[in-house]
Amino acid sequence: MSSPTDQNTTHFGYKDVPLNEKVKLVADVFRSVAPKYDLMNDVMSFGLHRLWKRFTIAKADLRAGHIVLDVASGTGDLAIAFAKIVGTTGKVIMTDINEAMLQVGRERVEDAGIIGNINCIQANAESLPFQPNYFDCISIAFGLRNVTNKSAALASMYRILKPGGKLLILEFSHPTIPMLNKLYDSYSFHVIPKMGELIANDKASYQYLVESIRMHPDQETLKTMMMQAGFEDVNYFNLSGGIVALHMGYKY
Ligand code: SAM
Repeated sequence: MSSPTDQNTTHFGYKDVPLNEKVKLVADVFRSVAPKYDLMNDVMSFGLHRLWKRFTIAKADLRAGHIVLDVASGTGDLAIAFAKIVGTTGKVIMTDINEAMLQVGRERVEDAGIIGNINCIQANAESLPFQPNYFDCISIAFGLRNVTNKSAALASMYRILKPGGKLLILEFSHPTIPMLNKLYDSYSFHVIPKMGELIANDKASYQYLVESIRMHPDQETLKTMMMQAGFEDVNYFNLSGGIVALHMGYKY
C-alpha cells in the first residue's frame, strides 16, 4: 500500500519523490506512451482490458439521459461506450490531466462517429471543475493509482456526484491466488518493460507502470478510503484473480 515515507514525499513507482514532482513525472509517462497506449494495452493484457472494461460498463447500468463523468479518461474507451448508451439526451464528459492522451481520445471519439454528447475537458482528478451534485455516474479506470493525492480525488468525485449516484473505480489490484502472484510478478517485471521498449520505445514508463501497480492500495484499503470519503454500500469485484478490481460506491 502506498504510504509516503514523510509528508513531503510520495511514491513514483518504487522511487520516493517530492510531492509536487509526481504530477510532472506522471505527465511525462503518459505524454510519452500516448501514441502507442491502446496497442500496448491490448498486447500487455492479451486483450483482457476490454473484458474488464466491458464488466465496468455493465455495472455502470446507465440509461438514456444520464450525465456521466469519466475521470482520467485517456484515450476514452469507457467514455465512448458510455456515450453510446446515454444517447443524445444524455451527456458524457471525459477528463484527463494530460493533453496528449486527451488528443488521442478526441480523435477516437470522432472515429467512432459520436457527435454532440461528449465533451473533453483537461482537469486534475484532485480538483474536478464541476458543480456539486451533478453527475449520475462517475468512473475512473486505471487512473487512480497515478494520482498524487488519492483521498483528494475521492473527495472531489464525491462532491460532484448526485445523491443516488454511483462511483466506479477500475484499477489494478492485488492478486488473491498465491500461484498466480508468482507468475504475474515474473511476467510484470521481466516481460512488460521489454514490451514497452520494443513497441513504444519506452522501457522506463512501463517499468513505472509495473511498480505503480505494486504501490497501489489493495482491495480492502481502497474500500476503506472510499468509505472515508463518504461513499456508502462500497463493494468490489476481483477480476482475473484480483489482478484488477472494480470498486463501486454510492453517494446517498
Ligand atoms: N482510463 C483510460 C483507460 O482505462 O484506458 C486511461 C488510463 S491511463 C493508464 C491513466 C490516465 O490517467 C492517463 O491518461 C493519465 O494522464 C491520467 N492521469 C494521471 N494522473 C491524473 C490526474 N491527477 N488527474 C487526471 N488524470 C490523471
